[in-house]
Amino acid sequence: MKRILFLLAVLLSFGITAQNTYLHCGKLIDTKNGKVLKNKTIVVSGKKITAIADGFIIPKSQDDAIIDLKNKTVMPGLIDMHVHIEGESNPRAYMDRFTKNEADVAFGALKYAEKTLMAGFTTVRDLGGSGINISMRNAIAKGEVVGPRIFTAGKAIGTTGGHADPTNGFKNSLKGDPGPKEGVINSVDDARKAVRQRYKDGADNIKITATGGVLSMAKNGQNPQFTLEEVKAICEAAKDYGMIVAAHAHGDEGMQRAVIGGVTTIEHGTLMSEETMDLMVKHGTYYVPTIIAGKKVVEKAKIKGYFPAIIVPKALEIGPKIQETFGKAYKKGVKIAFGTDAGVFNHGENGEEFMYMVEAGMPAMEAIQSATITNADVLEMDNELGQIAKGFIADIIATDEDPTRNIKTMATGVSFVMKEGKIYKN
Ligand SMILES: [Zn+2]
Repeated sequence: MKRILFLLAVLLSFGITAQNTYLHCGKLIDTKNGKVLKNKTIVVSGKKITAIADGFIIPKSQDDAIIDLKNKTVMPGLIDMHVHIEGESNPRAYMDRFTKNEADVAFGALKYAEKTLMAGFTTVRDLGGSGINISMRNAIAKGEVVGPRIFTAGKAIGTTGGHADPTNGFKNSLKGDPGPKEGVINSVDDARKAVRQRYKDGADNIKITATGGVLSMAKNGQNPQFTLEEVKAICEAAKDYGMIVAAHAHGDEGMQRAVIGGVTTIEHGTLMSEETMDLMVKHGTYYVPTIIAGKKVVEKAKIKGYFPAIIVPKALEIGPKIQETFGKAYKKGVKIAFGTDAGVFNHGENGEEFMYMVEAGMPAMEAIQSATITNADVLEMDNELGQIAKGFIADIIATDEDPTRNIKTMATGVSFVMKEGKIYKN
């Protein structure tokens, strides 16, 4: 009797967990081979893709569900290599630093995370915030909050007065002297400590601000801000702790030091010389262009009073140059990893970057590959993310149109979103 009851329990539990979802896909993007396939069925069980079959398969069990995507183009969930999930650009942003409590920032971030997921981005790399981004990653992973899977740098690392110095622009009595714990370094020893501190805080990866930046309260947007030795120390310490390093860089000298020092990705890369492009090809460094951030920052800089006066000339000078640099770097064979800098503009608009990439000369299929298979590589998740393949995590989205015919659909036509087998938008 006991045995029969046990068998019954096993069968029942199997019946519940065995519920599969069959996605009938009119078109399916094969990111590995750069092809658009027709009439396929994807079978999802739990959080994973368990099969892909030709034609539209009807499940045998009544417990299984069919999702009709026959009029859609289906592809893996998109990955954005550069977002700031904690905040979003607004004219009061510089004041917010003094008025908002951590809980205010966290509650605000809930809708940014949701908008990002609904736009088809099932995974993001957060490249710098206050540390709330680490709690956000955990809450999403536990299913307490709706949002994309997050890989986060926690707090970015800069130098005194550099782009990531958190007290730039404060009055003297508030400046203090932030150190490695706060992400400010001034020596090789500081560099190692700052990396180890990030690890201790729970970061997944490291972000450094290798040159000046546009939106910090500082004059120069492109000067080199780390010595080569400091960059090397950061990359070595990060490697020891199993983390990759992303370098924000607008100016060429700081960019070269970052590439030679061993970073994995260059962010923005605005004034990248041909010599640096060659160097990146040689070192295998990825370029994360963030064209959209440059464009949106220019728009805002033209609105009187939107940014503090010190920001405006930097925004107008640096913003418009990124797209052209991207076009040149792509033609030179630099590896391109899709990233937007969302937070500098509205979360959820990330998909517009595809249009700018295509406009600059990259074929639509390659732009989609950069946001899927390439980014999965950068994150060392290439066995689980970036493809619709058996055994991969079931992060699946669909667009109304075929993006290889109309790239705009990546920005405006994402109408189905599944993350880890759960449907968030249909
Ligand atoms: Zn950024």
